[in-house]
Order: sequence, then structure tokens, then C-alpha cells
Amino acid sequence: MVNYIIVTGGVISGLGKGITAASIGKILKLHGYKVTAIKIDPYMNCDAGTLRPTEHGEVWVTEDGGEIDQDLGHYERFLDINIPKCQNITTGQVYGAVIEKERKGEYLGKTVQPIPHVTDEIKRRVRKPAQDSSYDFVIVEIGGTVGDYENVLFLEAVRQMKHEGDKVLYVHVTYVPVLEALGEAKTKPTQHSVKLLRGIGIQPDFIVTRSEKALDDVRKEKIALFCNVHEDDVISDSDVDNVYAVPLLFEEQFLCRKILRKLRLRRDHNELKIWKDFISNIRNFEEVVTIGIVGKYFDIGSSKLSDSYISVIESIKHAAWNNGLNPKIKWIDSKIFEKKPDEITCLNSVDGVVVPGGFGLSGIDGKIRTIQYVREHTIPYLGLCLGMQLAVVEYARNVCNLEDANSSEIDKKTTHPVIDFIPEQVNILQESRYGATMRLGAYPAILKKGTIVQKLYGKNKIYERHRHRYEVNPEYVDILEKEGLVFSGRSPDRILMEFMELPDHPYFVATQAHPEFKSRPMKPAPLFEGLINAAKKKNLPLKLETSV
Ligand code: GLN
Repeated sequence: MVNYIIVTGGVISGLGKGITAASIGKILKLHGYKVTAIKIDPYMNCDAGTLRPTEHGEVWVTEDGGEIDQDLGHYERFLDINIPKCQNITTGQVYGAVIEKERKGEYLGKTVQPIPHVTDEIKRRVRKPAQDSSYDFVIVEIGGTVGDYENVLFLEAVRQMKHEGDKVLYVHVTYVPVLEALGEAKTKPTQHSVKLLRGIGIQPDFIVTRSEKALDDVRKEKIALFCNVHEDDVISDSDVDNVYAVPLLFEEQFLCRKILRKLRLRRDHNELKIWKDFISNIRNFEEVVTIGIVGKYFDIGSSKLSDSYISVIESIKHAAWNNGLNPKIKWIDSKIFEKKPDEITCLNSVDGVVVPGGFGLSGIDGKIRTIQYVREHTIPYLGLCLGMQLAVVEYARNVCNLEDANSSEIDKKTTHPVIDFIPEQVNILQESRYGATMRLGAYPAILKKGTIVQKLYGKNKIYERHRHRYEVNPEYVDILEKEGLVFSGRSPDRILMEFMELPDHPYFVATQAHPEFKSRPMKPAPLFEGLINAAKKKNLPLKLETSV
């Protein structure tokens, strides 16, 4: 019988509930269990595709084309699995389904109500993955914080699951602040948060406390008493230097053993050593590789949000670690180069540059200047989606002499739309059907023999995930190739250009896809591996610096 671990959050948002949920999944997987995860997002949107990255972080794309909250990325990376889009549940989807059923007469004669009809629909979706394949554990993370209006029906649904006989454990993640003036860790917010949860009818089995420093025994006892849990079941989740070390932090507190004991399961397998060795190796790497991410989704109010590019960052880390290097990321806002063109020389201080995906007009000019600079100054470059489109625009303008070449996303009137709509997109945009209508999910590409890209992948046919509406205009392929640009991968019908490279550059590679969604610790994405390889050769001997 499948076991559900329900992860809820309290006190504040942005606690790292996703990392906690992924880490619990990881220790169970390392003990030999088959694990998957579900993310519940209580917003009314049907998916994350229409959310602004600076507000909500990156949009994660699944193999089957779902546009989902970035937490799904943590699960895929930690658990090294592909998760289908049906394992993201939002209020929009649930209400949409209930209303559709009501219109079809499926509730004929009944008053359709939040309880039981909405909660039944939620439970149906939560139980579905385990009905379709055999899992030992399904980790279910409920977004938001206890006390929010919007997640209350989800909490009610998972409460009902235990009542109905499902094997369920509840893990509540809270925040324990330390007031600087007092120098004391305060447990009251946790007490209140658990009180709210118990008011809904959920008694947590474990309380995971996020804090800067490890929680001491006095605070553990207090939380245990006030929250009705055993002291041993208060798990300290203090800040660590590396998110991939969180599973080890839990393991040191025997969380896996405690979970299994509560569920009367045995441990018969242990692969923890592989993970421990991985983390301790990383901690010993001294040589630094510095990669500049030239993007635009950094600012929200007065704070900076690196979550907009989280998968790109993680991919850089995976590839650097695989090369025995300590990654250092430099944030570069492309708009700076528009205001202060001389600042472009700051690119000399990095070992490699990534221009990631993006939408809309702002920051485009700065990105094109970046690409021209790295091309002319032989700085290793990896372009992702928009980063490939702009590499084509730059090449068309500055090498093929097509002066006003552009993407029609940026300039509808350009005489040389070297990047243009994918034909199917025309009607979609005319009818303003923006949700879930891009070219989404994994598509195959056939790689050209002997190219950098083909050598990096080590095979001829590969699948990468996509999220875009525009593509290289087939009418310009010959002109670009005649001037030296190589399209090293195309769709099987050869119409869509999926990869490009410049053979006379140390590493100038770009793709229409998003290989960052397939990178995993210990299994880096090939194009990032190529970037790091080239970057580490850029400035020999390597500099010694502390990583950030
Ligand atoms: N805006 C571009 C397009 O839609 C690029 C998208 C992206 O970078 N993911 O094609």
C-alpha cells in the first residue's frame, strides 16, 4: 500500500518547503523505496505558465509539457525522476474540473459544495499517481502557509485521506526566528502555526523547524510539549552551505528511520554513502569557475530574486562539480549594457557566459551586445532558447550584414525576421489564447555528425524540453550557414533549427531547447558540461577564490 507524506508550511512563505519535501523523498529513495512527488499550488491559475518569474520564480517545464512551479524541479533533481504534469494540482484545475462535471450533470440533483465535491476532486488527483503505477511513497507538498484562505480545502482533503484509511504522515515545516536583540530562538510562531493546523484537524507527525542555527534541546522540548509531538519528532533544519546536503542533515537526525517506524516499514537498503561522498567531495573543491548569467528577471522591489533562473544555476553547479570545480555565479543585468555600453568589458572577468530564456522586449539590446562581445572575444557562450534566437539575430546583423535583422517577437516590422513565429502559433496569438499554448515539453532533435553538440551528447537523436513560440526562420538558414554558422541539430523533419554552434570559437553553442530541465546532480546536462569544459580552459591557471 502506498504511503503519503504530506508537507505543509507555517509562519512564513519561502521557507524552502520544496527542498524539505524533496530531501525527505531523497532519504526514502536512498533507502530503496520508490518515491514520487506532487505539488499543490493553491492559486486560481491552471498552471504556472502565465506567472511572472520575478514574482514566482522560474517556470519548470515537464517532459510532457506542463508549465509548473519551480518546486517540481527540486523533486526531479533530488529524486532523479521525470514527473508528469498531472502531479501539479492547482485550485484553477480543481474548480475547472468540478464545474465541468456539474455542467455535464455528473452531480445531478445535488448541491455542489466545497466539501465534499471539491475535496473529492482533490483526493482523486492526489491518489491518481499511486493508482497508475506502484509507488511506496508519494510526497505531497501543499503550497502556501497554514492560515491562508486559499489552501484550506487542500488541507481539508488531506485530512480526510487519513480518516478514509490512507496511510498518511503529516510533516509541518515552520520557521524559528532569532530576535537579534534577545539572541534567543523563538518557538511561539511555530506553536501558533501548529495550533491552526490542529484546528483544521491535522496533528503533525513531524515538525521541521527552519532556522539559521541548529535548534537546541530546550526549544525542541518546548515545541514538543506545545505542539503535541514527541521531542524526537522535532527535526532541526538549519541553514546549510548546499541544498543537496539537507537530506544528510535529516539523516543525521534519523528522520528516515523514524518515518519508517511510524509506518511499520523496514529498511533493507542503503545508498546513502554515494550521496555523502558526493557532498563531501563538493565541499573540498577549491578551484573556481565563474559563469556570468546575463538575464533580466532579477529585481522585485528592492530585493533580488535568483529563483527566476534556478534551473540554469543548478545546471551550472552540476557541471562544475562534475569537473571538480567550485561554481561562482555572477549576475549580470543585460539592461546595464544598454545604459552604460562601456561596462560590457566586465564580461572579461568571467570564464563563460549564459544567456537564458526570456520573453518580451526589455533587456534585449543588452543581450545582443553581450553575444557580440563574447563571440568576438572568444569567451565561452551557451545560449538557451532566447539565448539562441538572439545569437542568430546577432550573427545575421554583424556577420551576414542583414542590418535590421531581428526576431518578430521584438520588431514586427523588421525586413529580416530571422526569428519568426512557429506557424501553428499565428492563430493562437490572434485569438489571445496564451495559456499552455507554446511549443511545450520534450521534442526530438537529430544531431549533425561530428559537431560539438553531437560529441557532447554522444548520440545522434536526443530529446530536450521546450517552451517557446518563435523559431529560426527556415528562409534564412542557408544565408546563415553560408557565413559559417552551423545548425548542429534539427527537428526530425529538418524544419526547426534546434541547436547551433560556431566551429571557429572555443565554445559558442546555443539551443532552442531548455537543457537545464534535465540536468541532475552527478548527471550534468551535456551542453553545460561543454560550457564548463571550455570555461576552465579560458584562464589557465585557475584562480583561487571563495565561491558565492
Ligand atoms: N520568447 C521566445 C519565444 O517565445 C523565447 C522563449 C524562451 O526563451 N523560453 O520563442
